[in-house]
Amino acid sequence: MAKRKKSVPMADRPGTSECPKCRHVNKTEDARTLQIEMRPVLTKQVFAFPDALAEVSCLRCAACGYWMCLDYRIELDDNPEMDLNPD
Ligand SMILES: [Zn+2]
Repeated sequence: MAKRKKSVPMADRPGTSECPKCRHVNKTEDARTLQIEMRPVLTKQVFAFPDALAEVSCLRCAACGYWMCLDYRIELDDNPEMDLNPD
């Protein structure tokens, strides 16, 4: 039976976030949580990953439209097909 890993909760964040592009200060309460599919980068140690779902909290700068990611969390697949013992 596959182990279910805890998802990492999003951290508390400050009420405002400065745009890295134009320095406009935005209210983080306007942030939207989006779901994206992501594939982590594989390494020699971790050479196979299941598809992981990530929730990303994004905020769009009101001044210049630049999207900044404030936080994210990854939810692992319930049934990962991770082959730890290849020949
Ligand atoms: Zn901006």
